[in-house]
Amino acid sequence: MDFSLNEEQMAIRQTCRDFAEQEIKPIAEHIDATGTFPYDLVRQMGELGLLGLPFPEEYGGAGADFLSYCLAIEEISRGDVSVGITMEAHTSLGATPFFLFGSQEQKEHYLRPLARGEQLWAFGLTEPEAGSDSGGTQTRAVLKDGSWHINGAKTFITNAGTDMTGGVTITAITGKTAAGRNAISNIIVPKGTPGYVIGNSYKKMGWKASDTRPLSFEDCQVPAENILGQPGDGFKQFLRILDAGRVAIAALSVGLAQACLDEALSYAQQRKQFGQSISKFQAIQFKLADMDMEIELARLMYYKAAWLHMQGKPYTREASMAKLFASETAKRAADQAVQIHGGYGFMDEYPVSRYWRSVKINEIGEGTSEVQRMLIAKQLGC
Ligand SMILES: Cc1cc2nc3c(=O)[nH]c(=O)nc-3n(C[C@H](O)[C@H](O)[C@H](O)COP(=O)(O)OP(=O)(O)OC[C@H]3O[C@@H](n4cnc5c(N)ncnc54)[C@H](O)[C@@H]3O)c2cc1C
Repeated sequence: MDFSLNEEQMAIRQTCRDFAEQEIKPIAEHIDATGTFPYDLVRQMGELGLLGLPFPEEYGGAGADFLSYCLAIEEISRGDVSVGITMEAHTSLGATPFFLFGSQEQKEHYLRPLARGEQLWAFGLTEPEAGSDSGGTQTRAVLKDGSWHINGAKTFITNAGTDMTGGVTITAITGKTAAGRNAISNIIVPKGTPGYVIGNSYKKMGWKASDTRPLSFEDCQVPAENILGQPGDGFKQFLRILDAGRVAIAALSVGLAQACLDEALSYAQQRKQFGQSISKFQAIQFKLADMDMEIELARLMYYKAAWLHMQGKPYTREASMAKLFASETAKRAADQAVQIHGGYGFMDEYPVSRYWRSVKINEIGEGTSEVQRMLIAKQLGC
């Protein structure tokens, strides 16, 4: 067993760590407080190749492996999770479906500008009435006269409405399976298509500098070729997309948890009470030690899931475990980081206050903690 990272993985991690330290952290409080989407940062990340890390160079990507991509997500999220989720949703949810299931023309046309970071792309699975029950999609696409006619709505869609967004891939019912169930397909809808309405950005508790919107489709028409794979492939496709996405979300959670530990440790070493640094009190040391231990465990869990994925081995169980444990670890870390800061932790000028608000969504997005436990139990044979 070899736990060491190779040179390329270490170089990508270092590049992202430096970028987060120098470019992201200095503006993180401002973009959160004002809910500003950080276009300059995202464009810089595109130029550095960070928006196409796991895709081959022939499609404009950086040709890095999946673990390198996750390491990058961890470091960017350590700088700021709004930026981390923008990168993750673009790569794992927006671009990956084109890479995995797109035709050669679709890869050339859609994946290339995404991998180069010239455009962002969104993936619309969740609907007002279909969240955890993602197979309960109600949006419909009917093929008529060479076009898909789409009607329905999506909710909470990341990256859907930025100036850089090229479009969204949505799940829609396109017919019936042989067993009489709804057949779901993934349909590509470019921004600006008539009938495709992008709603206003939500006001959120955290991830405030990321773009999240409701979408609606009213007789929205796209050409028949705007489908990924074959009609009815959509359900299988998004299960695969979500497996890999969960490993990246685990990395995002580890980055946020690490940021909590960084701030808590630094504060504990500076803050004096009873004539000494509070880091000298065993009660504070034990909190820091537990944070460090849990973060290390969560990190090893996402490394293992990423490694299994790269070996082409099954990793659904490990992806769910990594996502579940890392998001709950991050929540505990954020809570303890605020506790270690005392009253100052409740003040907005301390980053831990922002971390505490943003951490909750990690237990909800890309499958709630309950859904992860259901998936793990299913693997046990329940
Ligand atoms: C900021 C943000 C960004 C997002 N980005 C995207 C995106 O880019 N694309 C996208 O498609 N979606 C996105 N989502 C949606 C997200 O994936 C869903 O919110 C999530 O899957 C949960 O769905 P829901 O909100 O409808 O909750 P529900 O499914 O209604 O769940 C409500 C509660 O019931 C529980 N529950 C549901 N079913 C069961 C069950 N069988 N057993 C036990 N408990 C159950 C849930 O765990 C949860 O606690 C985003 C959400 C947010 C908030």
